[in-house]
Amino acid sequence: MPVSAKPRPKGISFRPGVRVLVAEDHPGNASVLSSMLQSRGMEMHLVTNGLAAVQQCPLMLPDIILMDVQMPEMDGLEATRRLKADPRTASIPVICLTAYAMSGDRERCLEAGADAYLSKPLNFRELFELMASMLKSG
Ligand code: MN
Repeated sequence: MPVSAKPRPKGISFRPGVRVLVAEDHPGNASVLSSMLQSRGMEMHLVTNGLAAVQQCPLMLPDIILMDVQMPEMDGLEATRRLKADPRTASIPVICLTAYAMSGDRERCLEAGADAYLSKPLNFRELFELMASMLKSG
């Protein structure tokens, strides 16, 4: 196999091909996430509402899930609850992402069963460190 011409991004690295299910309804946020995850060699599968996340997760069985909280159809909290109640998906780490730094959000995410919580705008270093620790322990 030829050496990749693309320089590897500095910092936290991941094994190649980590599969990430991203539930995010905002196209701009999804686009930024997509390029950031790809820069670390990850494969992102995007859904734009919580219901689609609940439906697709058992089929794709991703390594990790990034779950926006505010979404149409079904919000990220309810989707997280359902994924954590399903034995097929319960062990997959979920990181909830919310635009709102309201007090109580963290508690609501963790109560829904999320493994961690980050507020937007995302600090990608923080996100990658969190993902790396979860993929290692998971
Ligand atoms: Mn949203």
